[in-house]
Formats: sequence, structure tokens, C-alpha cells
Amino acid sequence: TVAQDSPLLQNLNPEQLAAVTLPATHALILAGAGSGKTRVLTTRIAWLLQTGQVSPGGILAVTFTNKAAKEMLTRLSAMLPVNVRGMWIGTFHGLCNRFLRAHYKLANLPSTFQILDTQDMLSAIKRLCKQFNIDDERFPPKQLMWFIAACKEDGQRAKDVQVRDEEGRKKVEIYALYEEQCQREGVVDFGELMLRSYELLRDNLPVREHYQRRFRHILIDEFQDTNKLQYAWIKMLAGQGADAAQGAQAMPGGSVVAVGDDDQSIYAFRGARVGNMTDFVCEFNVTHQIKLERNYRSFGNILDSANELISHNSKRLGKNLSTEAGPGEPVRVYESTSDFAEAQWFVDEVKQLVRDGMERKEIALLYRSNAQSRVMETALFNAGVPYRVYGGLRFFERAEIKHALAYLRLLENPHDDTSFMRVVNFPPRGIGGRSIEQLQDVARAAGCSLHDGVSAVPGKAGANLGAFVAKLDVMREQTAGLTLREIIELVLQHSGLEEHYKLEKEGQDRLENLAELVNAAESFVSQEGFGRDAMALPVDELGARLTQSPASQGLDPSASLLDEPLPEALAPDAETGETLSPLAAFLTHAALESGDNQAQAGQDAVQLMTVHSSKGLEFDCVFITGLEDGVFPHENSLSDHGGIEEERRLMYVAITRARKRLYLSHSQTRMLHGQTRYNLRSRFFDELPESALKWITPKNQGFAPGLGRGSNAWGDATNSGAGGGRKDWASSVFSSKTGSAERFASPPVPPQKNAPSHGLKSGMEVFHAKFGEGKVMMLEGSGDDARAQINFTRHGVKWLALSVAKLTVV
Ligand code: ATP
Ligand code: MG
Repeated sequence: TVAQDSPLLQNLNPEQLAAVTLPATHALILAGAGSGKTRVLTTRIAWLLQTGQVSPGGILAVTFTNKAAKEMLTRLSAMLPVNVRGMWIGTFHGLCNRFLRAHYKLANLPSTFQILDTQDMLSAIKRLCKQFNIDDERFPPKQLMWFIAACKEDGQRAKDVQVRDEEGRKKVEIYALYEEQCQREGVVDFGELMLRSYELLRDNLPVREHYQRRFRHILIDEFQDTNKLQYAWIKMLAGQGADAAQGAQAMPGGSVVAVGDDDQSIYAFRGARVGNMTDFVCEFNVTHQIKLERNYRSFGNILDSANELISHNSKRLGKNLSTEAGPGEPVRVYESTSDFAEAQWFVDEVKQLVRDGMERKEIALLYRSNAQSRVMETALFNAGVPYRVYGGLRFFERAEIKHALAYLRLLENPHDDTSFMRVVNFPPRGIGGRSIEQLQDVARAAGCSLHDGVSAVPGKAGANLGAFVAKLDVMREQTAGLTLREIIELVLQHSGLEEHYKLEKEGQDRLENLAELVNAAESFVSQEGFGRDAMALPVDELGARLTQSPASQGLDPSASLLDEPLPEALAPDAETGETLSPLAAFLTHAALESGDNQAQAGQDAVQLMTVHSSKGLEFDCVFITGLEDGVFPHENSLSDHGGIEEERRLMYVAITRARKRLYLSHSQTRMLHGQTRYNLRSRFFDELPESALKWITPKNQGFAPGLGRGSNAWGDATNSGAGGGRKDWASSVFSSKTGSAERFASPPVPPQKNAPSHGLKSGMEVFHAKFGEGKVMMLEGSGDDARAQINFTRHGVKWLALSVAKLTVV
């Protein structure tokens, strides 16, 4: 058939082919890293469209990041001459936003509803706590935020939460107040996007049935990291929810194809449930399960390392990965004396790689926690190597950008109190805390927004506030009918932001970022294809586009999307979509997009990111740094078995990002949270196949009886023992032209046993303010370099620097 001969299906192995061409049923594709899961999903969409089994409007595909969604759209448009705009491809948040925009009235939201990012959510909660005199020692706003987010992820409104004690009752009360506040202000946080769209599907039969009929094919990537609510949402859309349970011969929903890898489940801390995979198989009666076991990404040594490591986990669904690519280069392991030395080595190595012809954007530096990037960034910066940091503070979260966005949001929705509070006195215009409190009281009493409360504030305060509101009103009038670019330029000027930063001493960066905001808006508008589409397109418009498309693309017109329009009363609200202002669309974009691609877009730069945000990506060369116990695996995970297993999955994700070359590095000392720490080499090294590794600094042998594995203390002792040798050691290594440290081979000197100056001896019982009680196992070094290895009853084995650690003998 045409279908089987399609060029789309070339270059697929038999299992991949089977997955791509599955009939319209529910299926689970369980496969390891780099086995082509994402490729299978993308190809399946293309195949379904090409064979006329579905029109673009019948596709719903969920990706884990916006970046992945864009990539999928780009690949699809390269594969097919199809208008990809009609397809619902995006993250859960992006899709829910689109859905709520289309049905904002039914969802009980204003047409201009704004999205709170995490920062906004926190400031909204802080404001609420202040207003209701909530003790922020007992109820830290951050914890309240996590609590609320967790409730929402669990599908629970304040009224649904079971409380067990007084504290719980209070938290739920705050949750309820927060819900009210958001509703009044017309704002939704990330969790709310998901929950509200779930509730709308659940509670509105015609809407539910419409979408169940519409989405014939639901495809989900990275299924192992979906949370409970996301899974419920999928169930609902696929007609496996309440209807199925009630046995009401409900609309048979579309087919759900989920792809995932239980070994890459790394978001348990955010509510992800690997159990969704097994539940899916049961609850959807999945008959087709496909495993992909051939890896196309990495060479053998890299893959062997990943396989061997993950085999140490107990709870696994079981699968293996092999490659035909040959072993490739060994995995290089490097040990440094300090985090600075590690960074210097990394930069030298990068420079060498680039000289050897590698593109910088093919080099990724992965670390466990964001805090580790600073040292690396400094080293790259000093060496003049272009780099890009993913994650961390998003472009759209920088203070100056947030200020500008707040003004823009107030143009759209003057009742957005979070934005109001942010800029009412910024740039400073003499509106003090007292005036604001007065305004808050008035607004609360009247049950209105701050904006509306202004006229009731008497005296000078009232006059100042009135002037601010008048300024906003003038800007709103002046910007009517302008292009997005013109609106932003006008706001930057008239709000006084530009002037303010011009006068500020260190304001140059901020001004540049504000200019970048204008660029971002410009490229948002010009990429309207993606930009607009990630937002709301009314179903009607989709219908119109799609009814033209099938014929013109040689597809079967009978496969057209909207077999049945929504009943009149449920038709998407007319004001959305086509008339959703570019400003409103851009503000949504700012809340949902990382904005990573703003600054330095397109530059060939080394890529820095946490392991978490590297999921799904691949690079020719990967550095995993800071491989020390307490860093990676993270110290919070050490005491608990499940925690270690999650860290191991993270390490598995990290290793499997590499195509050709992989470096693993660890350091004897590291500054963390303002303290120099001596860490043991990560236990993960002991779980890698020795045959795949090449130690480019000598591997330290374990020497401590009872420790059972290598201790990195040797090298350090060597250097300090050699009398200020650390520096020489470092420079002798790093001045080498090749940037390689293979020449370093000074023989280890036994460490000094008990250094008497601090009065500690091995075997002593000690107490530490943070780690509690423990026993001294080993002592090394002297003077400022003295350190002790202590086995803490509750926190396990740690190395502490005695010059900083406050230990008392008990
Ligand atoms: P991850 O678990 O990391 O998300 P994945 O299973 O989604 O990985 P992909 O990203 O889809 O894997 O594929 C990994 C790499 O292998 C990609 O570069 C992809 O193009 C390539 N690839 C997949 N299948 C094939 C194939 N049959 N022939 C050649 N290359 C392939
Ligand atoms: Mg993938």
C-alpha cells in the first residue's frame, strides 16, 4: 500500500515501524533512552496525516517542554506539506491554556485572564498573608505555595482537602482565600490551568463529548513524568473517565499512544507518578505494548555505562538497550582538587574540543543543581567562551522584564492586583507603604480590585494613587490600535522605566534586557505561526482552515475534522482567538515560555543546564560535573532508598544525553552554601563498568577499612602534604598545552593520621549543629586543611573541614 511505501517509514527498525503504524488503539511504548521514542511519535503523527486517517485538528500531542513541541512542529512541517497550525501540540500547560482561552466563559474566567508564573504566585501569596495577618514564621509563603500547588496537582480544591489538624485547617483556609483572590483578579497559576481545564471537561458533558470526538489521536511523550491530574485529564479526553465508569455508553474517545521510560522518571518531587504507566495499561485495557531496545544515540561505552548503572535500581519495568555503533571512545573520568580547578579543566577541554572542530552547541555541561553553574560560568566568561545557561532565571522572570510586563498586563486587565502592586510605586513615585495599606483596606472592604479602590482613598495618598491610575488609563488609550512593538516602546517610555534605568548606576544591563523584550515581541509576531498557535485558535477557525486543507493536500476530505460543530451555546467565545490581541497573546507567551531563546539566540555557544532540564535532548559531547556524594547523588536523597533510586535515574538521563564523548568529573573540595566541603567521589562511579572508563587522573583506591570503596581523600592529602602543593599541582596540570591531565602521576603520600591541634581522635563521639551526633572515622591534614570524616547517625558519612565546621566533642 501507499502507506507502507511512504518515505516516512524508511529508516525505521521493525519495532519502530510497528509502533508508528499501530492501528487506532491504546498503546504503550516502553523504551530506554535514545531508542527513538520521540521520533516514533513524530513519525506516527506524520503517517496518520499522510494516510488520511486523521486531519490535523484530530491530533493532540503532549510534549514535555515548549522546545520539544516546537521541534516536533518543525519536523512535521519538514516531513509533510501540511498546515501544522491546526494541531494541538504542546505542553500540558500550553494545551490547557489554549483550551481555557477558547472556553473562557464556561471556565468562568475573564477573556483577558493572565497567567501567574511561580514568582507571581509567590508574591500573590505573600500579599494575601500580609493582608490576613498570617504568621509567616509558622506558615512560610513558599511552603504555602508548594502546598497549594500540590493540592491542585492532586485535583483538590480547598473544599476537597481533608484536614487532620489545626495547622492543616489553617493552610486550607489560606488556600481558599488564595482561590478567591485569583478569581477576583482574573489570574491563574500553572496548576490552575491544568485543574480548571480538567474540571471544565469533567463538568460539561457537551464540551467533553465534543473534544472526545474531535481528538482521534492522543499522543504523549515522556509519559513516566505525568502527574495524577494530567493522567486524569488524558483519561477524560479519551473517554475513559467518568463516562466509562458509569457505563453510559459514552463516546468512544480517541486512541492514546503513550511513550515513556520508567528509568527516566525524575520528577517524583513534583508529583510525577510512574504508576501512571501501569495504571494506563490496566485502565485503558492496553493490548499493544511495544519495547524499543535499540539505541541510536550513543556509542557502546556510553550505553554500557548507562545500562550498568541503572541495573542497580530495583523497581524497574525491565528492558535493555543495545547499539550497533561500536564501543566508541571510553568515558573519561577526571578528578580535580577544587571546584575552581574543575571549572578550569572543563574550559581548557572545551577549547581543545573546539579547536578540534567540534561545534560549541554540541557541547553540554550538566550539573545536579543550579548553584553549581556559577563557577563554571565565571571560568567560561573569563576565557571568552560563549555559553548559554538554560533554566535558572528565565528571561521573562528578570525584575526589569517583570516590571515592564506588569504595566502591559495592567493595560489588558486593570484588576490584576499582583501587577498593580508590583508597579504602583515603581519607578518610585512617592507612594509609600502606608498609602498602599490604606488602599488595600478600602479595596477589601468594598470587595473590589485595587484599581477600583483608588477613588475611595482620601487625601494626598488618594491623589498620588489617582495619578498612577490616570497614567495607566492614558497609556491604555494611547496604545489602542498600535502594533505590539509600538505598545511596548510606549509603555517603557511612559511608565518611566526606561528613564529610571538610565539613571541607575548599574542599569545598562537592564536597559539592554528591556530592548531585548522589544525584540522578543517582534519575533513573536513574525513567528506568528508558532506564537499565535501556541495560544488560542478558536475551533471555528481551525475548522475553516482544515476543511480547505485536506483536499489541497491530497488527503481524504472525509477525514475532515469537525464532523459536528459544538452546540451554539458552547461555541468558543467569539472574542478569543482571531481577536485575542497580540498583546494578550504575547503576555501568555511570556508566562509559559522559558524565553531561553531570547538573549544570544542562534549563537554557537556551549550549553549549560541541570540534568533535569536536559531530558529528551542530545549532544555530541557531554560533561557531567560535580559527581560527588552529597552533590550527585544529592545530599537530601542519601538517607532514603527511593531517593537514591531517583538520583540514579537522573544520572542515567545525564549519561544518555551523550552521542560520542562523555566526561565525568568530581572534585575533592567544593564551595557549597558558603562552606568548603570535602566530598567523597560519587558512589555512582562504583556502578559503572570499569572497562568503559578511562581515568585521566589516577583513580584513587579505597584505603579506609570499612569504607569499602575509593576515597578521594588521598589526592588531597598528597597535595596538602606536599606543602602548599595544591596550587603547583593545579598549574602544572593546567599549563599543559593539551589540556589533558594524563601526565599527572605523583604518587600518593599516606595522609597524616591524627592531627593533634584540633584535639579530635578517630572513634570520638561528636556533635554538629546541622548533622547532629556522629562518630569520627578518620582525620587528615593539619592547620587550615584539617578535616574529619564523620559518620553521622542521621545523615551518614561526611567529610568536614575542621577550620569551618563547628564540632563539639560529646
Ligand atoms: P529520550 O529517551 O532521551 O527522549 P528517545 O527515545 O525519545 O530518547 P529520540 O530522541 O527519538 O529517542 O532518538 C534518539 C536519536 O536516534 C535521534 O537522533 C534520532 O534521530 C535517532 N534515531 C531514532 N531512530 C532511528 C533510526 N531508526 N535510524 C536512525 N536514527 C534513529
Ligand atoms: Mg524523547
